[in-house]
Amino acid sequence: MSVTKLPPRTATSADAAATDVVHHWIGGRLTRGHGKALDVFNPATGEVARQVILATPEDVGAAVASAAAAFPAWSDMPPVRRARILVRYLNLLNEHRDTLAALITSEHGKVFSDAQGEVTRGIEIVEFACGIPQLLKGDFTDQVSTGLDNWTLRQALGVVAGITPFNFPCMVPSWMFPVAIACGNSFVLKPSERDPSAALFMARLLQQAGLPDGVFNVVQGDKVAVDALLQHPEVKALSFVGSTPIAQYIYERGAQLGKRVQALGGAKNHMVVMPDAALDQAVDALIGAAYGSAGERCMAISVAVLVGDVADKVMPQLAERTRLLKIKNGMESDAEMGPIVTRPALEKIRGYIDDGVASGATLVVDGRVDAKTGRPFSVAGHENGFWIAGSLFDHVTPQMRIYKEEIFGPVLVCVRVKDFAAAVDLVNAHEFGNGVACYTRDGNVAREFGRRIQVGMVGINVPIPVPMAWHGFGGWKKSLFGDMHAYGEEGVRFYTRQKSIMQRWPESTAKGAEFIMPTSK
Ligand code: NAD
Repeated sequence: MSVTKLPPRTATSADAAATDVVHHWIGGRLTRGHGKALDVFNPATGEVARQVILATPEDVGAAVASAAAAFPAWSDMPPVRRARILVRYLNLLNEHRDTLAALITSEHGKVFSDAQGEVTRGIEIVEFACGIPQLLKGDFTDQVSTGLDNWTLRQALGVVAGITPFNFPCMVPSWMFPVAIACGNSFVLKPSERDPSAALFMARLLQQAGLPDGVFNVVQGDKVAVDALLQHPEVKALSFVGSTPIAQYIYERGAQLGKRVQALGGAKNHMVVMPDAALDQAVDALIGAAYGSAGERCMAISVAVLVGDVADKVMPQLAERTRLLKIKNGMESDAEMGPIVTRPALEKIRGYIDDGVASGATLVVDGRVDAKTGRPFSVAGHENGFWIAGSLFDHVTPQMRIYKEEIFGPVLVCVRVKDFAAAVDLVNAHEFGNGVACYTRDGNVAREFGRRIQVGMVGINVPIPVPMAWHGFGGWKKSLFGDMHAYGEEGVRFYTRQKSIMQRWPESTAKGAEFIMPTSK
């Protein structure tokens, strides 16, 4: 394996931060590995921006070995010293936030301000993880029985791995590794092969912050790398975020192999608009939450549930606003929506729109075509980019594929229902349960909605209720396989296991052998 030791560097722009070939990061070094190269695109131009090297099982083995070697000393380090390294990483992330955001825009396509927001959300998890000395405090019972004390503590698991999707190349890995390494684990990250550079950028910053080599490793790759991580006996836990079929596969296979697994899957998030809602605000919320990041967010609103006469009132505004979206290269300052991540993803979205039309839904705004020219939608000067405009469907029914399946693109489908009870039943019958929102001015409706809805993350007049760093993220039903949510205190529990210690000293033990279950005396 060819290994190049590069000096830590301070990047000043996305171009400077990126390389022509994206390697693995193993033991604090860029590592070429043995796998083949895959093209990484700039979605705005459609050009190949660079290549990523896909890991072989041997490369994954090297990353896990490096993490295993680093684990004993790292887990033995007092939590406050681990926290100090994270504080330095936090400062570096803040300093380089815009460079990282530009790098994300160049590979993902999302608009720069949205990429800045993603990095900020990642920064907040690091801020949470810096409190690890407090978070790892255990419980203690003095004199649990005569002369006996009992306490619980939480210890790191060992080598843990994260497998992440393309849509948040900084934020989603940051749901995992800051908490995992703060707890004393060593980490192997397998980012999406579609936008792999952010992971390497964060690896370099961690090294600059003083993280010992081997505590954080990156293997680039696809299913081959994921399967090697799943099968490796040294990997004790897996955190996965991505589509539901892969989440379910990783959960089931990981459990068979005795690993701890949290696997977050896909979504179809509804926003219920009640007749008493502030309708202008609801329209703003729908436009931002449906078309922001081109709908490629697991918490995007993809279904508007319009109650009573709401549809007749808001549909003209929704249509007008959808047509006025500013769709541009994400680096342009007034861009509201960028391109789709890859051409196959774009074709899949177009296919769903075809299917919606064929199934009888009303296509109010057709994002496939330029309304002025009638030709396929594209952006002037970027004709080879992966472009589609916002689409809006009305009169969608629960039997249609565009309602049932995750489209993961800028397509908002509207379902009309007669009342609140029908809205709740509709949402609860869906197989996904990631996020949901309800727009209303009625406190009782809001309260009932929060209590009765079968979804993991709920927004009341909040369209995208992604929990803040201190609360933890996770859906229900087919949106999460496993017991614990990501980050927050659930994240600390996921990355540690509890140990109970009972202690008695010789002066208090002159009792002889005891044959009954110990009870408090
Ligand atoms: P994806 O499932 O295609 O890929 C996710 C990860 O799994 C990537 O690292 C990929 O390399 C790997 N992978 C792909 N195919 C695999 C296979 N056959 N076997 C093993 N590993 C495989 O997802 P994506 O397209 O990158 O991301 C979009 C999806 O992620 C959407 O479904 C979205 O809803 C979901 N997502 C969910 C959340 C959440 O919190 N629930 C957050 C972000 C994204």
